[in-house]
Amino acid sequence: MTTRYGDQSAQLKDVRRADPDGQGQWSFCSQQATLRRLDKAFQAFFRRMKAKQAPGYPRFKGAGWFDTVQWPKDRDGCRWNSTPSSQTRVYLQGVGHIRVHAHRKVDGKVKTISVKREGRRWFLILSCDEVPAEPLPDTGNAVGIDMGVAAFLTTSDEVQVANPRHLAASADRLADAQRALARCKSGSMRRRKARARVAGLHATVRRQRLDHVHKTARWLIHHYDVIAHEDLRITNMTRSAAGTLDAPGANVAVKSGLNRSILDAGWGIFLSILAAKAESAGRTIIAVDPRNTSRTCPACGHCAKENRVSQSHFVCVTCGYTAHADVVGAINVLRAGLARQTADAA
Ligand SMILES: [Zn+2]
Repeated sequence: MTTRYGDQSAQLKDVRRADPDGQGQWSFCSQQATLRRLDKAFQAFFRRMKAKQAPGYPRFKGAGWFDTVQWPKDRDGCRWNSTPSSQTRVYLQGVGHIRVHAHRKVDGKVKTISVKREGRRWFLILSCDEVPAEPLPDTGNAVGIDMGVAAFLTTSDEVQVANPRHLAASADRLADAQRALARCKSGSMRRRKARARVAGLHATVRRQRLDHVHKTARWLIHHYDVIAHEDLRITNMTRSAAGTLDAPGANVAVKSGLNRSILDAGWGIFLSILAAKAESAGRTIIAVDPRNTSRTCPACGHCAKENRVSQSHFVCVTCGYTAHADVVGAINVLRAGLARQTADAA
């Protein structure tokens, strides 16, 4: 027999009626939203089965794993800014009015409200409709960016944005914490503490990375009308962890896997934040095929692996043009982007 979302939603009504002081006191919409998440997880599971991919059976999320509750519609079991006054509050059915420390102004109309638990902290996540666009004045400038490991990104104007130092430090601490966790006996108090430490460090890394990518994206959006970057879907297939780090010695290799995955994730988040800011500001973002961008000479066009002497040095074997390899990559990305833009406009 198959159980579907419709069956569970119908059953939910009975459950609520039978348990008015327990399940019945919470928001119906929010409980339905949870059932819909479950349905989505199983649909994705069956889709992967069908496609003969690794299916990954949905994990049961007990009280210790279940960290997010959503209210799909403002004013339906929840209300944003429930007591308009000097203090911002949110009303959640069954919980009451809760004070919120809003870290920025809410633009547009609140659509959904989510409450998320991260360790011992609680976060409120709003999604909004009708967010007003804020176009920025034209600058007349275009830029290409090369995303790297040694530096977070390098622009065709020879500006390097470094990876935040504290991010690498957190990544190392995270690696240590994960090793400590692996050594703890399951079910022990030590293990519980070790797990909380890993979770806390993950949250720290996430916040540091978000802060850094927001700042970097804002800077680009303010200075350039057109921003070209490598298409990550292609980049990740053509790059390996070993090939992109400076002299991968013993020390680098041990932690490079984790550091690397943190950086990779950072680029994905960076590009989606950049795209969102660009749309609001009326800027153009172009993703280009990154193949050969690091080995083509910007001066004479000669393309050879030998042009790249080392991780950071580019010397053209034909014309002798010399530059920082990441800058060369960024210049080629910019050219490919502008060529695409011209082709699209024609
Ligand atoms: Zn050349």
